[in-house]
Amino acid sequence: MNALLQVRHLGKSFGGVKAVDGISFDLAPGELLALIGPNGAGKSTTFNMVNGQLHPDQGSITLQGQALIGRPPRDIWRMGVGRTFQIAQTFASLTVLENVQMALLSHDRKLWSMWRRAAAHRRDDALALLDQVGMKAQANRPCNVLAYGDVKRVELAMALANDPKLLLMDEPTAGMAPQERHDLMALTQELVVQRGTAVLFTEHSMDVVFAYADRVIVLARGRLIAQGKPADIRRDPQVQEVYLGTGKTFERTSP
Ligand code: ADP
Ligand code: MG
Repeated sequence: MNALLQVRHLGKSFGGVKAVDGISFDLAPGELLALIGPNGAGKSTTFNMVNGQLHPDQGSITLQGQALIGRPPRDIWRMGVGRTFQIAQTFASLTVLENVQMALLSHDRKLWSMWRRAAAHRRDDALALLDQVGMKAQANRPCNVLAYGDVKRVELAMALANDPKLLLMDEPTAGMAPQERHDLMALTQELVVQRGTAVLFTEHSMDVVFAYADRVIVLARGRLIAQGKPADIRRDPQVQEVYLGTGKTFERTSP
C-alpha cells in the first residue's frame, strides 16, 4: 500500500490499563478507514496519539514518512492532520461564515488579534467551503441558532479549511438521528473523494460503517483483532463475538 499514515506497534497505558496495546495499521491517501470497537477499546486514545495530544509509551507514527511522535499538536495540524472541533464551546455566537473565516485565518497563520481587521478575510473561499457543505444559504446566521446536523456541517467545513491530508473524526455523528448520520457521512465521503483526503473515523452505527468505510479496523481491549473490507469484517466470527451483547447494531446489519 502507498501509505499516507503508518502506525507501528503503538502502545499507551494508563496506570495498569493497556488502553492501546501494540497496534499497527496503514492508511492510504483518499481512503476512508473506520476504527471500530466496543466502548473502552482504545479508539479515542489512538486518535489522540495521532493528533499529538497524547504521548505514546511505545511505537511509531509517520505521515508521509515524517515522524509525528514528539511534535506538538499544532505542528501535526500544520503538517496536514486535521480534525473536527466542536464549535459549541468557543465560537457559537459568531456567524457560520465568521467561523469558517476564522478557520482559514488560522490556516493562513494570521494572528488572532488581526481578526477585528480581517472580517473580509478570504470571504469568498469561506463561502465556497460553505457551499460545499450545503451551508452557504445560512452563512450569516449565528452558529448557536443552527440545527445540530447543520453545526456538524460547519465543523466539517472548518476542518477542511486547513486542507488536511488526513482528517480525524472521533464519533462525528454522536447525538445524531440515523438519517442525519447517513447525510453527514455521505457528505464527508463526497468531499474527501473530491479532495483525495484520507479519513480515519469512529462510528457506533454499523450500518454507517458498512455503508461508507473503504476498510475497517477493529479494536478490542487495546488490541487490533481484525482489519479488512467491510464485507469481510461483517463475517468475521471474532468481531461478531466482541460485539455480541454490547447492544450495538452489528448483528442486525444485513448485506
Ligand atoms: P474508546 O474511545 O474506544 O471508547 P478510550 O481510548 O477512550 O476508548 O479508552 C481506552 C481505555 O483507556 C479505557 O479503559 C479508558 O478507561 C482508559 N482511558 C482513556 N483515557 C484515559 C485517561 N486519560 N486516564 C486514564 N484512563 C484512560
Ligand atoms: Mg472514544
